[in-house]
Amino acid sequence: MIAIDFDGTLSDCPYLVELVKGNKGKHCLITHRAEMKHPPYQLIYDMEAVGLDVDDFEAVILCPVWIRNDTDKVKLWKGEVCHSMGIKTLIDDTFAVNQDGCDKYKITLLHPIDDEAKIRLLEWDK
Ligand SMILES: [Mg+2]
Repeated sequence: MIAIDFDGTLSDCPYLVELVKGNKGKHCLITHRAEMKHPPYQLIYDMEAVGLDVDDFEAVILCPVWIRNDTDKVKLWKGEVCHSMGIKTLIDDTFAVNQDGCDKYKITLLHPIDDEAKIRLLEWDK
């Protein structure tokens, strides 16, 4: 399984959307959107706008508000979630917020325009 950000990543990269849909239900969407600031249905609407459905993912994970509001904890959060789920790769457009957590838990952080992100999505089960 690979973890993939939404805003600036899946929202802006149709080629990643196609790769996710090609392996329906195998990957995980993870977003720093917090439920109190962005109601879950807004994410569903925004996913639908780029051709994605919650069923395209094994899991869709929103950030808890108490972490989203803590500048130290939010930097570790995606790395921690990936680690807890046994996920080794995070595809995300925002390195500044995610690098610390990925470094701490040895998660490979890839930018959506990095060819390696596409390769890993294509060969995710190898
Ligand atoms: Mg993003």
